[in-house]
Amino acid sequence: MKTFKNYWQAGINILFPNQCLGCRTDIPYDHLSPLCALCWEKIVPFADPVCQKCGAPLPDGGRHCFSCKKNPPAFTKALSASIYAGPMKELIRSFKYKGKDFLACLLAGFLFKVWLRNEPFQDCEGLVPVPLHSAQERERGYNQSRLLALELQKIIQEYYLESGRTAPLVLNNLLIRKKNTSSQTLLSKAERAQNVAGAFALNQTQKLEYRSVLLIDDVSTTGATLNECAQLLRGAGVQNVYGLSLAKD
Ligand SMILES: [Zn+2]
Ligand SMILES: [Zn+2]
Repeated sequence: MKTFKNYWQAGINILFPNQCLGCRTDIPYDHLSPLCALCWEKIVPFADPVCQKCGAPLPDGGRHCFSCKKNPPAFTKALSASIYAGPMKELIRSFKYKGKDFLACLLAGFLFKVWLRNEPFQDCEGLVPVPLHSAQERERGYNQSRLLALELQKIIQEYYLESGRTAPLVLNNLLIRKKNTSSQTLLSKAERAQNVAGAFALNQTQKLEYRSVLLIDDVSTTGATLNECAQLLRGAGVQNVYGLSLAKD
């Protein structure tokens, strides 16, 4: 009976091949996770000490990195769940570029862990996804940051179920992206800041009554994008803008 089951399993695995998104090894077709066990272990939370402003690693300790001391960003604090490398990088690439929008739920779980450890994040009244340019969103079919914000909201809602608290709103229409700044990968820190300068705009003219909001992004590199968005939101009356991304590049 066992042999039959083994053959059956092998046959199904051939008909419905399933690979770990992290290392491409074959995993059983009914394996519920997109990663094998080894790749799961490789995703580690961002280790302290980090800059209390931008979340960059501070191997020599201290509170703030050189860059934040020199040019304090407009956001109060931004953190990433993990480093943009290994299986996390593969998950994000599949999520963004290969149409695997269903990964939003799993990835939002990483954001939730950071949210849970940071009280100011929990006091945010709204989650603000970093917008995509309309042409880019049309091409992709979705804004990955919006999907992350929606899934994070769902997880928080579930967490609050017994306490009766309400999860933050997803404020999807506060900002728009005017400039299509699709690829920043090859740019230096100064070039990135220049590239995103003026890339965003407020989508409305009223004063915003929110005390604090949390910007949601997939990958944060120099923090230039979060800084641009935070500047606009603060200019519109939001007192504190925080940032949360899946991975720091
Ligand atoms: Zn793997
Ligand atoms: Zn910093």
